[in-house]
Amino acid sequence: MHFTGTIWRPPYEAYSLLIQVTAGCTHHSCKFCTLYEDLPFKFRMSPREEVEEDLKETSRYYNKVPRVFFTGANPFALSVDKLKTLAKSVHEYFPACQSMGCFSRITDVTRKSVEDLKELRALGYDGITFGIETGDDEALTFMKKGYLAKDILEQCRKMDEAGISYNFFYLTGISGSGRGNIGAKETAKVINQLHPKIIDASMLTIYPTSELYKEIQAGNWKEETELEKLEELKTLIENLTVDAKFATDGASNLIQVRGNLKKDKKKLVRFLEQQISSQDEAYLRKYRENLRHL
Ligand code: SF4
Repeated sequence: MHFTGTIWRPPYEAYSLLIQVTAGCTHHSCKFCTLYEDLPFKFRMSPREEVEEDLKETSRYYNKVPRVFFTGANPFALSVDKLKTLAKSVHEYFPACQSMGCFSRITDVTRKSVEDLKELRALGYDGITFGIETGDDEALTFMKKGYLAKDILEQCRKMDEAGISYNFFYLTGISGSGRGNIGAKETAKVINQLHPKIIDASMLTIYPTSELYKEIQAGNWKEETELEKLEELKTLIENLTVDAKFATDGASNLIQVRGNLKKDKKKLVRFLEQQISSQDEAYLRKYRENLRHL
């Protein structure tokens, strides 16, 4: 199998067949991001032969794969034609495959029309994960995410229209000290107008190799305290009105919460309130500082 560098996938793709079709990120500019720094290049599309070889190899062991997840930060950046070719190859080796997903940037949808997206849906693309991080324009701009809240709305509405389901990653802490609750409310305003199936929250962990670390050293940005991050998470859940699964999976989260926003919202909020009143900032901070790797 061809895998380059650390492979990231959403926790809910644990049972999907992982196939590398890209490595790295086309954007590679978010100030907090160190995810693909172990790669010697910014972005690479896998040669067709590599993908074919991997599909062939895996099809020898598993013939009834229901879902394939294409790895890389944003394989959805590939052209519609390339995505179609990939889907056809998957169906060739795995005729029982029902869907294909991947990470995507919001801007990867911009150049695709609703008609394009419908064609991709018909070929099996579904459950695309967007690391939107936040709906707070101030934070999106400062962190150089390369889009604004209005773009999240515009592009995800196209996904809705095309019938491609999607999930969001939220980054607790991205708004910075004193702005966590503002960021959470701004994000809820955006998400509440859309239809994500899963909202997965991670917590900002800043590594010395990031551009954000330099901004902090220069006094241009201040990190939220760990308790503030928990408050922000509570505010986000309180303000979300969508019927979606919510989870804080992954090591960056100090506390794991998981449930359905419609059914379990009160329980999730109560749990976070208890945690906020009983946790100790110094203890939580130690956890963060000891996180060597995400
Ligand atoms: S956060 Fe995502 S979009 Fe931004 S640089 Fe990292 S991988 Fe690329």
